[in-house]
Amino acid sequence: MNFKELREKMVGQQLAGRDIKDKRVLDAFLKVERHRFVGEEAQSSAYADYPLPIGANQTISQPYMVALMTQLLDLKGTEKVLEIGTGSGYQAAILAELAKTVYSIERISSLADKAQKVLNELGYKNINIKVDDGTLGWQEISPFDAIIVTAASPEIPQTLVKQLTEGGKLVLPVGGTFGQMLVLVKKQKGKIDTKEICGCVFVPLIGKYGYNK
Ligand code: SAH
Repeated sequence: MNFKELREKMVGQQLAGRDIKDKRVLDAFLKVERHRFVGEEAQSSAYADYPLPIGANQTISQPYMVALMTQLLDLKGTEKVLEIGTGSGYQAAILAELAKTVYSIERISSLADKAQKVLNELGYKNINIKVDDGTLGWQEISPFDAIIVTAASPEIPQTLVKQLTEGGKLVLPVGGTFGQMLVLVKKQKGKIDTKEICGCVFVPLIGKYGYNK
């Protein structure tokens, strides 16, 4: 299978063909080999326009959703970014292409191990993964210029808002377990500005400031 060709098609049709216009974001999606982040049985669908299973009842989001959330963070290359929900590690790799350092938290250790392995194989040195409850954020490393939550939260976790820099951005799905609103939060002059982007469906964020289970 010609993965490079599939990747170019994905970027052209699903991303640039919609509203992904940030050239750095499009270039990152051309570069990162999405098929490396799914099991062999799913590799032939790795560049399709939908989410895929990654084991432990979790999913890697549709490419467009990963791109949309990434574009909203407006990364320039100097940022320290926190991701909640490492999953396959694909979103972390995309972020690592666009920011200075990525910190990523996953609650399921088997997924964190798999993600760490593929990210090592691909040579990423600016991604740090830990197994923990991401709803607590990563206090010792905070504040972050950008935070991305890739699981559905019942509300905006204030622990995460507190760990944003002045001018920092947080993007996350907020709502019930069957459907959510993608929300962009900006911290400006100590004030919080929130903007609703679009409807979306994510697996639940499970933790102290998320869902119970
Ligand atoms: N960003 C991932 C997609 C992850 S799916 C990717 O690119 O593949 C959402 C992930 O969030 C799942 O792996 C799930 O285990 C994880 N998760 C759910 N609640 C969490 C929490 N409180 N802390 C950390 N990870 C969490």
